[in-house]
Amino acid sequence: MLSDGFETKGWDVDFDDQAGLDTSQVDDRRGISGGGLAVGGGAVGLVGLLVALFFGISPGGGTDSGSAPVATGSIQQDCRSGADADARTDCRVVGVINSVQDYWSSEFAGQGRSYSPARTVLFTGQTQSACGPATTDVGPFYCPGDKEIYLDLGFFNELTSRFGAKGGPFAQAYVVAHEYGHHVQDLLGTTGKVSGDRQGADSASVKLELQADCYAGVWANHAASTPDRATGRPLIDKLTRADISDALNAAAAVGDDRIQQQAQGHVDPDTWTHGSAAQRDHWFTAGYVSGRPVACDTFG
Ligand SMILES: [Zn+2]
Repeated sequence: MLSDGFETKGWDVDFDDQAGLDTSQVDDRRGISGGGLAVGGGAVGLVGLLVALFFGISPGGGTDSGSAPVATGSIQQDCRSGADADARTDCRVVGVINSVQDYWSSEFAGQGRSYSPARTVLFTGQTQSACGPATTDVGPFYCPGDKEIYLDLGFFNELTSRFGAKGGPFAQAYVVAHEYGHHVQDLLGTTGKVSGDRQGADSASVKLELQADCYAGVWANHAASTPDRATGRPLIDKLTRADISDALNAAAAVGDDRIQQQAQGHVDPDTWTHGSAAQRDHWFTAGYVSGRPVACDTFG
């Protein structure tokens, strides 16, 4: 079975066109605060915003390589089905969030626990979190203080523009699944147990990061092995080792997964860069091959 997981060339994230999307798991604040500038900030961002307004570019953007979203609160109208998730980055994020949380709900239920869903806040430019201001520069992060994930889709534009296919749908899904891994750690009490040990390659914060990668792999296993009822195909095509390396490296190269310092939360300001590429690969793969969270004991 292990080798089967790596035989098929090529990968994709393909939703069932008929499937409904649950947008209640997303708080769409794009364009609401912090100036709403989409990409780059400053003069470049302002020009981009003006161009977008002038040409009436669709909020949310229709393609991976298109402009960052500039309009507000469009997700409920725009993201209704799996077909939307296949066509648009913002809707794909909704679909991945739904899939990740479906998985963890059933995993928790199987262990007699209850899973509390976490919302993802989509924003442009800047927004407030219980962990301090969320900005484009900070990159995606999970805030233990309000149990929400903060994501500027401009991060994905950068992934795609700098890495092409390597920064495509699977890399995006990995980023989302990794952040939900932090939520799972928070729910399980792992985060609280290790706060305070933030420095160095063997620190608890690096082990937390690697475990979140492993949890992302566990989800990917289920997303790649569970056939959709309508299409008969799984959400994710089988991944090659090269696919995994490419996606993890692309995500790590443009993000640093910072969590803002705050009273009740743990912080590691630069964690994506601390786990080595080989470590991240190892732990994502451990989760992906096993499909079981118990394989993610990075502290052991
Ligand atoms: Zn992380």
